[in-house]
Amino acid sequence: MSENKKAAGGEHDTAPVSDHKRPYRGRFAPSPSGPLHFGSLVAAVGSYLDARSNDGEWLLRIEDVDQPRTVPGAADAILRTLAAFGFEWDGEVLVQSRRLDFYHAALVRLQLDGEVYPCACSRSEIAAHAPPRSVDGGLVYPGTCRAGLAGGRAARAWRLRLPDRTVAFDDRVQGRHQQNLAQAVGDIVLLRADGQYAYQLAVVADDAAQGITAVVRGVDLLDSTPRQIWLQQRLGLPTPSYAHLPVVTNAAGEKLSKQTRAAAVDASASNALLSAALDFLGQTVPAKVRTGSLSDLWRWAIAAWSVERVPALRGAFPGQRLPP
Ligand code: GLU
Repeated sequence: MSENKKAAGGEHDTAPVSDHKRPYRGRFAPSPSGPLHFGSLVAAVGSYLDARSNDGEWLLRIEDVDQPRTVPGAADAILRTLAAFGFEWDGEVLVQSRRLDFYHAALVRLQLDGEVYPCACSRSEIAAHAPPRSVDGGLVYPGTCRAGLAGGRAARAWRLRLPDRTVAFDDRVQGRHQQNLAQAVGDIVLLRADGQYAYQLAVVADDAAQGITAVVRGVDLLDSTPRQIWLQQRLGLPTPSYAHLPVVTNAAGEKLSKQTRAAAVDASASNALLSAALDFLGQTVPAKVRTGSLSDLWRWAIAAWSVERVPALRGAFPGQRLPP
């Protein structure tokens, strides 16, 4: 159970260590906003090897809760690419756009418990308060609707109350990470003005629904983890262990993504790309494995995987190690 301590800047919570009695279950949860690129391949490789080397299951989830960002056909293309690279997943693929009733149920529970409140503020009204920047580069919500909607104002969104409390956890790659929720994040939207559920609600509901015990994903989500742990606790859900891998950047230091026009990985170069992903994750692939068969490469990688060797970096440019 969580340990409460007084610390500068408010109450202090340490996330409970995950329940090691539950069998390992990991996942890969791509957003189908574009093809599988080298950055997402690295996250898939890290989560897969960590699961398999722990005799665990590895589940897939298509994170298309943000419908405006979803590209038609991208989910199928990602699944085909994963299969072509030799990934083998367990069970049915969970698709977020089919689970809106679950997110609704989670939101209703939070409403009944007073953990969320309706908010009438538009983006420009929030900006007019000149609030501080959040850790995500957005604006810390100034709390205008926290004590109730002003007369004549209509709810646009639902926000989660995030307290003046520091949440800390021990990341398996990045080490101890802590964050004051009110100062670094502020009350976040869980149901948006356009009627879409936020990723932060969906990921928490789904990790629990899929029985995930270990999350291995890109470090760009490290700063989202304290709020996700807080939300898990509000919903009475277990906290998995976390390992945040360095993200792949281009030469300009920008994370590979659809926005930076990252190219789709080519399954005809599967061994070279998987070897490059393993190098990036600090696992040095012997020359004869690099040039051997795909199944030998996977066999070697599962046996050799060591999360301790993953560099505790936020981002890195793989440079010439990437095949052309
Ligand atoms: N859907 C997110 C992405 O593609 C990953 C979310 C997660 O692993 O929690 O970046």
